[in-house]
Order: sequence, then structure tokens, then C-alpha cells
Amino acid sequence: MKELAYRDALNYAPIDVIKGMDLVTKEIVGADDKAPAGYEAMPKCKFCKNYTADDETTGVCEASMNKPKFMAYGDMSAGKCEMFEMKKE
Ligand code: SF4
Repeated sequence: MKELAYRDALNYAPIDVIKGMDLVTKEIVGADDKAPAGYEAMPKCKFCKNYTADDETTGVCEASMNKPKFMAYGDMSAGKCEMFEMKKE
């Protein structure tokens, strides 16, 4: 996986929109700071193989059975989506 921002990493607990805690080091870090190499990505639509980005923030869920297929936000949590599959790099 390419470089991750903390806000996209599993080992990150947000405190507010700009900062949170690195759950490995217990340090307070910026949400947009680069997470250390090897940190896993949080399940989000933008990391799903079914997601086609239209722009930086929105896209389409290709697994949708609706016509037209439904719009998805890249940052939407996919923890409860049964169709989520992590994109391979
Ligand atoms: S399958 Fe689920 S996680 Fe993947 S893009 Fe569609 S809604 Fe998001």
C-alpha cells in the first residue's frame, strides 16, 4: 500500500478533525501526518476494489445493483460493508 495519512490508518484514534492518537506509540499525531510504513489501511470506500473515483472525494460503487449505481464518498467507512474488498496495489 502506498503512503497512508494517519486518518486512513487502522492504528489511529481520532480526537478531533485535526489530531488523534497513534495507537501503537500512544503519541498525539496530526490526522494528515504520514503514518509509519507498514501501518494497515482502514476499510474505506476509496480503498475498495469496487470503488471508481470521480474526483478526490467522491466516486461510484461498482458493486451497487442500482441503476444508476450509487455514489460513494471515498472516506466513507467500509467496516460494515459486506462487499468491501481491499484494492491490491
Ligand atoms: S462495495 Fe462497499 S466498501 Fe466498496 S465501494 Fe461499494 S459501498 Fe464502498
